[in-house]
Amino acid sequence: MSHQSLATASLGFPRIGRHRELKFALEAFWSGRIPDAELIETAKTLRAEHWKLQQEQGITRIPSNDFSFYDHVLDTAVMVGAIPHVYGWDGGEVPLSLYFAMARGSQGDGHADCGHARHGQGVPALEMTKWFDTNYHYMVPEVAEDQVFRLTTQKPVAHFLEAKALGIHTRPVVLGPVTFLKLAKARPSTFKPLDLLTRLLPVYEELFRRLDAAGADWVQVDEPILALDLTEGERHAFKLAYEALAKAAPGLKVMLTTYFGALADNLDAAVALPVAGLHIDLARAPEQLDAVASAVRPGQVLSLGVVDGRNIWRVDLAAILDRLAPLVEGRGGELVEVAASCSLLHIPIDLELETALDPDLKSWLSFATQKLGELSTLGKGLVQGRDAVRHAIDSASQAVAARASSLKVTDPLVQGRIAGIDAGMKARKHAFEARRQVQAETIKLPLFPTTTIGSFPQTGDVRKARSAHARGTLSYKDYEAFLQQETAAAIRWQEEIGLDVLVHGEFERNDMVQYFGEQLSGFAFTQHAWVQSYGSRYVRPPIIFGDVSRPNPMTVRWWQYSQSLTGKPVKGMLTGPVTILNWSFVRDDIPRSATCRQIALAIRDEVVDLEKAGAKMIQIDEAALREGLPLRHKDWQHYLDWAVESFRLCSSGVSDETQIHTHMCYSEFNDIIAAIAAMDADVISIETSRSKMELLDAFRDFQYPNEIGPGVYDIHSPRVPDVEEMTDLLSLARRRLEDRQLWINPDCGLKTRKWEEVRPALVNMVEAARRLRGED
Ligand code: GLN
Ligand code: ZN
Repeated sequence: MSHQSLATASLGFPRIGRHRELKFALEAFWSGRIPDAELIETAKTLRAEHWKLQQEQGITRIPSNDFSFYDHVLDTAVMVGAIPHVYGWDGGEVPLSLYFAMARGSQGDGHADCGHARHGQGVPALEMTKWFDTNYHYMVPEVAEDQVFRLTTQKPVAHFLEAKALGIHTRPVVLGPVTFLKLAKARPSTFKPLDLLTRLLPVYEELFRRLDAAGADWVQVDEPILALDLTEGERHAFKLAYEALAKAAPGLKVMLTTYFGALADNLDAAVALPVAGLHIDLARAPEQLDAVASAVRPGQVLSLGVVDGRNIWRVDLAAILDRLAPLVEGRGGELVEVAASCSLLHIPIDLELETALDPDLKSWLSFATQKLGELSTLGKGLVQGRDAVRHAIDSASQAVAARASSLKVTDPLVQGRIAGIDAGMKARKHAFEARRQVQAETIKLPLFPTTTIGSFPQTGDVRKARSAHARGTLSYKDYEAFLQQETAAAIRWQEEIGLDVLVHGEFERNDMVQYFGEQLSGFAFTQHAWVQSYGSRYVRPPIIFGDVSRPNPMTVRWWQYSQSLTGKPVKGMLTGPVTILNWSFVRDDIPRSATCRQIALAIRDEVVDLEKAGAKMIQIDEAALREGLPLRHKDWQHYLDWAVESFRLCSSGVSDETQIHTHMCYSEFNDIIAAIAAMDADVISIETSRSKMELLDAFRDFQYPNEIGPGVYDIHSPRVPDVEEMTDLLSLARRRLEDRQLWINPDCGLKTRKWEEVRPALVNMVEAARRLRGED
């Protein structure tokens, strides 16, 4: 074996295509515009393109089976036959229609989503949830107590052979059995999915034998839960699983792949497993290198995830070479691989598509394609020595140095303000009880005040106007006039139906983070840098590259315009610092908490300006606060401390009379209730309608003192709830909270609904409030 390079691995390449080919093919297929053969062909072309690209870039462990039409967890569920009865599976080959019914639900009666009406008629999709702490969402597999697992498809084998036919030898990727079960949901919830491990393993054993027979030498088995807090039982499950797999296909080498955090207390369990290789995430947990390196068994391949698969910054090649060289020397090149920290799924495909980015910023970035180049440089540099890759190293060093000293990154004014933050800036002038009284005098509200969470339907007209304006076919003036008209109509209608606290409707916003990011310094936006959020939904997260500040007011104009139309109070409407942070690509040169504090100061400026303009109520949405919780419990408090501090910083610049609202989407509140109380918003609205108000238990048990608006209208469904349904929910709320604490509002996201649904539902909601007050 010649040692021209260390083995290099990407662990997974984005599936969506440089030009979002997969999205367009999926949508065309779902709407019946193209046949399944065409969708399948598009997918095949994409796979070939991605394999070739990786080969050209010098990657030696090219992944296969990382492609998915929708989601790799769903693929795994289907592969092992975890297909709930409602989908009407006949036990044969799983047709695309059934696969998509699991992904998206189906309406039955010839719905285009589901070509063959006999499959999964009128069934809901599987639940969807966040993939660890990323912004990717996976479909939650469901398993039954009497679950029978069976290998239903040979997709991993088929894709291996597909690549082989192109002359590319791949390393298939599969989601490991323990992580699969850990992510699955037991239905009914009378048992633990992991109890089914021994029933699941034969399916993996068969798969491994077939991969072996097809000629695979390695398989990448992803077990990211090894970066979580595990029980002894869960650790034992790994032993059981990997011993069985080693026995089933002794010729197939397993690269046990961990990511999103350190192995830490799972290290001993991981290195004891009979696997040929172990991959660790050194972007998230660089500190684990020495401990892991000394714990792995002699002869075991160590895969070093040094290139961040979650972020878009170019790496300092020289620094990585320095760090890894002694290890490679010690272990020998055969026993080390360099890799992305995790699959590149979480970052955009190609920086070269960005033609409008500031050239300096562009020179600091690296997307999936560029990261392949970084990996192969590292692989070569570690074997052939630095001179062989001198040019690449120097250019990376220059970029890193330029970024570190750039005035585009560091803003002395921001630094000065940060240094000047004192305790007084992080607390309201008086405690809630005192504020409540002055607010009640300034803002006359009835008992059980009614309001909404901010947005109103983004109709076809609104979207059309926005894109016409973006394309330049609708002038700024006409676009503004259109938005004013929509806003005015929304204000008028809210007055008419008798809501107590109005909102302007957010018609001018494309997205609750992008809208603010576009007006803040330190943020950049891309043209094509899409990443998969779920299925065919892709997002273009903002890139925070420098110190953040707010050059000009962002929302004051819209608030003023709306308030000028009504005597009722209109809430100012902002996105909070933690949410803006969590939904962006962030800097890696300062801690997340430092960036969050800067955003908090920028939002604080806006809050103060809204108050100056006359706003009596200002809502600061923190939809993603809970989402940002670290994977390990021990890290929670630190995160919650700075997240809460940021919220307090952004919301405490106002006088006691000004009522601060916040909002959170569906969350488990029990374990963060103290933090929520510490945020000290005067009013919090939360989504609760689907939980039968059980989510309020946490507030009751904590004796949460401030005011709360539990959602009483499930806006995630087109159904219009009637008055009784909402009064019923409210009486459940009243059992848990005092009347004086309660607000009445829907769940969030009215922008995704139609006016025909929203109108009657909110009319009913106002009526429910009247009944509660005894007004009818
Ligand atoms: N104000 C936003 C809205 O009503 C909040 C969205 C959210 O919580 N995700 O759309
Ligand atoms: Zn929400």
